[in-house]
Amino acid sequence: MIDFNRPAFTGREFDYIRDAVQRGMLCGDGEYTKRCSQWMMDKFHVNHVMLTTSCTHALEMAAHLCDIKPGDEVIMPSYTFVSTADAFVLKGAKIVFVDIRPDTMNIDEKLIEAAVTEKTKVIVPVHYAGVACEMDTIMEIAKKYNLKVVEDAAQGVDACYKGKALGTIGDFGCYSFHETKNYTMGEGGAILFNRDEYVEKAEILREKGTDRSKFFRGQVDKYRWMDYGSSYLPSELNAAYLYAQLEARDQIFAKRMEIYNYYHKNLAHLAQEGKIEQPYVPEECSHNAHMYYIKVRDIQVRTRLIAYLREKGICSVFHYVPLHSAPAGQKFGRFSGEDVYTTKESERLLRLPMFYNLDMEDVKYITDTIASFEGF
Ligand SMILES: *Cc1c(COP(=O)(O)O)cnc(C)c1O
Repeated sequence: MIDFNRPAFTGREFDYIRDAVQRGMLCGDGEYTKRCSQWMMDKFHVNHVMLTTSCTHALEMAAHLCDIKPGDEVIMPSYTFVSTADAFVLKGAKIVFVDIRPDTMNIDEKLIEAAVTEKTKVIVPVHYAGVACEMDTIMEIAKKYNLKVVEDAAQGVDACYKGKALGTIGDFGCYSFHETKNYTMGEGGAILFNRDEYVEKAEILREKGTDRSKFFRGQVDKYRWMDYGSSYLPSELNAAYLYAQLEARDQIFAKRMEIYNYYHKNLAHLAQEGKIEQPYVPEECSHNAHMYYIKVRDIQVRTRLIAYLREKGICSVFHYVPLHSAPAGQKFGRFSGEDVYTTKESERLLRLPMFYNLDMEDVKYITDTIASFEGF
């Protein structure tokens, strides 16, 4: 069976984990955490990066730092992972869902302004498949109505919009290093931001409400309970794994691109025949080959294709039952305007296997098998 995903492994991970153990500090914010944050600050040109235990937790931190209060409204697409909404629901926000663009599956920037009310506090663009949302328009709307922008860049690590790294454009960016993402530490993430004014609050929030970070820098002589906080820092063991992956960035990036481009080229004839649709990447975006998906006619064709591929030993998956139609979505949110594309497009999208250690022979087998499907 060809898996849908396997966590990337490049070779150095064991060495770094062993080294972390020998250094005698396994809790957070040791050598490997520092190396990972520094690597991202340099590579993505952002002033502050803090590793977290997940992207979900990075989003929770962002919601807290945006000072979300019960009843505040937060705008996001319904076509996203539950965490995008959960983080804001935790703070008592009402979620306002906006339809997606069918070409990129991202929030339709032209529909955001109509969803803004007096209660709106934040816009959350989700960069689906590592392809950027239309950030210039989104940042303009945010400026006009004095809103914050939290980028859910869980899938957007190492992708760009007009040359800027995703996650560094809004007020906050949230990354995921879950094992299904391009670079991984098993479970983990990061919060990114540029403004210095958030540093102290973010450190306290991340360190159980204490000023332990200042204490470690020798800025205070004992650490105390300063404010509300939680425990959002990952272990050095996880950071050591991630650092090996970041160091192997070129290798991982190139391999994912190779897979993406192979799919794209070798499935193009099916698109020309009108059997499938392929992903679209706007000119101002450079993606990171996070995902390769195709769209088929409707949910019936998709169900048959998944079964056919499974029979042939290939695991393909779909995802995101739109949040607004799920029980919690109805409880915590409302849809602004009409659901023209969210449900319809989500029902016909199919994700193909994509991971660093995937064999190119298998990729060829997958494209050949899709081409042999007669039920389009
Ligand atoms: C994976 C993902 C998340 C959650 O990431 P975790 O690190 O597992 O918490 C959030 N949003 C999107 C869009 C994702 O793809």
